[in-house]
Amino acid sequence: MDLLAEAKRIEPDIVKTRRALHRHPELSYGEEWTSDFVAGELKRLGIEVKRGVGGTGVVGILKGGKGGKVIALRADMDALPVQELSDVEFRSEVDGVMHACGHDTHMAMLLGAARLLSDHKSELCGTVKFLFQPAEEHGGRGGALPMIEAGAMEGPKVDYVFGLHISSTQKAGEFGIKGGAVMAAPDTFKVTIFGKGGHGSAPHETVDPVYIAAHVILALQGVSSRMIDPVRPFVITVGSVHSGTKENIIPDIALLQGTVRTLDEATRKLAKRKVREVAIGVCRSFNADAKVEFEEDAYPVTVNDPKVTGRVARVLRTIPGAKVKEMDAILGGEDFSRFLRKAPGTFYFLGTMNRVKGCVHPNHSAKFKVDEDVLKLGSASLAMLAIDFGTPREAR
Ligand SMILES: [Zn+2]
Ligand SMILES: [Zn+2]
Repeated sequence: MDLLAEAKRIEPDIVKTRRALHRHPELSYGEEWTSDFVAGELKRLGIEVKRGVGGTGVVGILKGGKGGKVIALRADMDALPVQELSDVEFRSEVDGVMHACGHDTHMAMLLGAARLLSDHKSELCGTVKFLFQPAEEHGGRGGALPMIEAGAMEGPKVDYVFGLHISSTQKAGEFGIKGGAVMAAPDTFKVTIFGKGGHGSAPHETVDPVYIAAHVILALQGVSSRMIDPVRPFVITVGSVHSGTKENIIPDIALLQGTVRTLDEATRKLAKRKVREVAIGVCRSFNADAKVEFEEDAYPVTVNDPKVTGRVARVLRTIPGAKVKEMDAILGGEDFSRFLRKAPGTFYFLGTMNRVKGCVHPNHSAKFKVDEDVLKLGSASLAMLAIDFGTPREAR
């Protein structure tokens, strides 16, 4: 079975699907048109479809003609609040919304894989579940958890789960893969500093939350440089500072918002505790009160099963001409991590960087552009993983 050759034959349809999705981007949990489209395509392939799985989520179930394992393949469906500035002719038709993270390509590649697999339904071992997930970009309560709560990983119970993300930092057509922790836990926090307002000419009669906020921002960087083992990746960014209305008024309150990124649960726990202690301690030393809140339900670290991931790499290497590279972890977050807590599996990447075609802008940029030549590789790889992991040892 040469799945890459088969993917090449359906490539025009994969690209067409991707462009249709690109024209109709929808924000997290608003994927109505998108889920209709996806469900329609799956039904057309004769695949059993469940709708409304965790909001707008769609699950397709393809039962093979022979017994085997249950494999889940996941694509996320949401777009971002970005006004598209790319030069493609199939630009977003929705003002201020764009598939700037490539989730349109994830859906198109997975629908391509669904077609390749349904073409081989009678020889297929086991069951393949296609998970079309809402709201990956939501942060906090992303769409993976509600899908799991709605039973997406059960009935039949998933043995292995795989997900693919398009990557602007890797060369077009190159797969990136890593066993163990591959993406960070993205914990967002809020520090509210309660000072005492007054006249800008008389700071001694106030507790100035703007001045104190400056100290907190600087001190928080000391958590990474002085309190966390330097061999453990850790990033803290304060991305939002709000206080005050006028130059000569000392306000009552300042609000800082930031994000903490870690790659293991122990460092994560320690980092969160230290952020809290440092922020509150600095505020106290200047006579202000502080409240530190971490968002609940933040995505866990994305941990690829090392053994499964080694096998995934071997499968990818059998694709003619494919380059498979061991990659470094990245400190972005992914709620695919939730699925990996339910079943062993791998989240891997497919590069789309191509200078000649102008595909050089990062994911989330208004100019983000994908080299569509790589889509067939993605479809073939997903289908190959479903077949390899679905087939019992004795049937291989
Ligand atoms: Zn994204
Ligand atoms: Zn993404």
